[in-house]
Amino acid sequence: MNMIKIHKTAKLPLDICKGSYKDRISLAKELNRKFFDEINKKFTQKTISYDLFEKILKKSTPAEINVKVNPYNKKGGTTCLYLDDIKNCITEHLIYIEKRPFMDGLGILDTGISLHETMHYFTSIANPKHIARMIKMFETGTLEKTEKFYKEKLYTRNKFDKKTTQQTLSEFLKQFTPEEQIDFLQNSRYRLLEEYHAYDEGYKYLDKIQDSHPELICEKIYAREKEDYHFPEKIEIIKEKLKEIFANHSNLNNNK
Ligand SMILES: [Zn+2]
Repeated sequence: MNMIKIHKTAKLPLDICKGSYKDRISLAKELNRKFFDEINKKFTQKTISYDLFEKILKKSTPAEINVKVNPYNKKGGTTCLYLDDIKNCITEHLIYIEKRPFMDGLGILDTGISLHETMHYFTSIANPKHIARMIKMFETGTLEKTEKFYKEKLYTRNKFDKKTTQQTLSEFLKQFTPEEQIDFLQNSRYRLLEEYHAYDEGYKYLDKIQDSHPELICEKIYAREKEDYHFPEKIEIIKEKLKEIFANHSNLNNNK
């Protein structure tokens, strides 16, 4: 398998970004805050263009990162891309934000979603290791085999029960080698944690932007769905499972 590299246009340089996971999340939040302060000023009417949003996002990123922001006709997302198969290199980030019917550009009330997605973007460029793991899983086929489970059993608002999730997870993992199990669990753990932070960020700035532009909104709206996902409880289950696997396979490196 060819190792995929992350090109310098897709991650923050080491002098800006180093340290623990906690430090990197703090950095991502700080960048998201700076981005918000800029974008907040641009709302002189109810919408701004995707182009302007992208331009300000680039300006708020402390390195030359390739990032594109596109309208999308489904629920949005943030992803990365490798354009150059020969070099096996991730070269850019793509953010898709749901386009509302009859609306040009991004609405002020889309801030809950747009700042959620920019938080994903800043977290990604601050954690190139996590992108690398995701790509490894994609290359080996583990991602394809686990994505349905991730979406249906972990990243879901369906009713949560600790025992059931523990059992379903243990059962599901049996088909994979310990190394695949670890990749999947680490990947899921960080993805859930990043969703947790991204929801917080989206909510926080949806609140702030409405408070700073009362003239542009009719009635204040609140988005509150994060609790339904039970992120902390699910992350705890995954961490326990990882501990168990490392205890049984001392040869495998606990590489966070
Ligand atoms: Zn998200």
